[in-house]
Amino acid sequence: MILRIDRLQIEMDMPEQPDPAAAAIVQELLGGRFGEMSTFMNYTFQSWNFRGREKVRPYYELIANIGTEEYGHVELVASTVNGMLTGSSSGGDPTDTPLAGVMPPPNPHHFIVQGQTAAAANSLGQPWQGDYVFNSGDLVLDLLHNFFLECGARTHKIRVYEMTDHPIARQMLGYLFVRGGVHALAYAKALEELTGATVSKLLNIPNIPNSAFPETKKWEDQGSHRTLYRFSETDFHNLGAVWKGVHPDDGEEVGVEQGPPDGGQPADFPESPEHFVPGYDPGEMAEIAKKMMDSK
Ligand code: MN
Ligand code: MN
Repeated sequence: MILRIDRLQIEMDMPEQPDPAAAAIVQELLGGRFGEMSTFMNYTFQSWNFRGREKVRPYYELIANIGTEEYGHVELVASTVNGMLTGSSSGGDPTDTPLAGVMPPPNPHHFIVQGQTAAAANSLGQPWQGDYVFNSGDLVLDLLHNFFLECGARTHKIRVYEMTDHPIARQMLGYLFVRGGVHALAYAKALEELTGATVSKLLNIPNIPNSAFPETKKWEDQGSHRTLYRFSETDFHNLGAVWKGVHPDDGEEVGVEQGPPDGGQPADFPESPEHFVPGYDPGEMAEIAKKMMDSK
């Protein structure tokens, strides 16, 4: 089972300026081949399909817990896209042209179908696909794939960083550079334990350290790059069998932390009547919702 907590994995500012063109770029990190939906679904399916798990339990637990963290990364990128789109239309009378020019090519489709919200799609509006999930069942091959997936995801994140300096995109990227670094290193350590090959020597891919990006400093100062989270109150007590030893960047001991990160309050993005969101008369809907909550 999976428990849901109504918090974002980081405290995120409400942006002052929209940037729909950059939001379209960030979509790649949500629904692209190397986006958060892919890491989430790859590790989640691998954990569900894991056979003989009692014999190699630490590896099963590693994949399952990283998969759960990735679910929160999907949420974080979706929140970033929502924030970057908020305010991009002028509002007002639907019989004027409040949505004129809000979504530049190549993806006006996004705005027509989704309004000012995140899509389960890449930067071209192409939907996320189930065949992005790789699950051979061979543990070494799946771990090798996951290591590759994290390195590919890092490459795409760096390129998105190079395309936009929008403040919340960079807040999100700074955190995900650090967390992706943990995942790549965790899969490397798992492969090292299993095969003896020193996979961590391949890092960083691409060959630039996280410390080159100023937005990672806050997280590295807190030791987030050395921390793996146990996403359960009661289970998964073997994570430390894989996530152990020192971190290659600073030589300090890595460790497992009980429970998810503290995170921050998710934004309550404003209603947008020009998209009829959340309804024709938001005031009236709020009144109905209040009555429902009062009567429970
Ligand atoms: Mn991720
Ligand atoms: Mn990851």
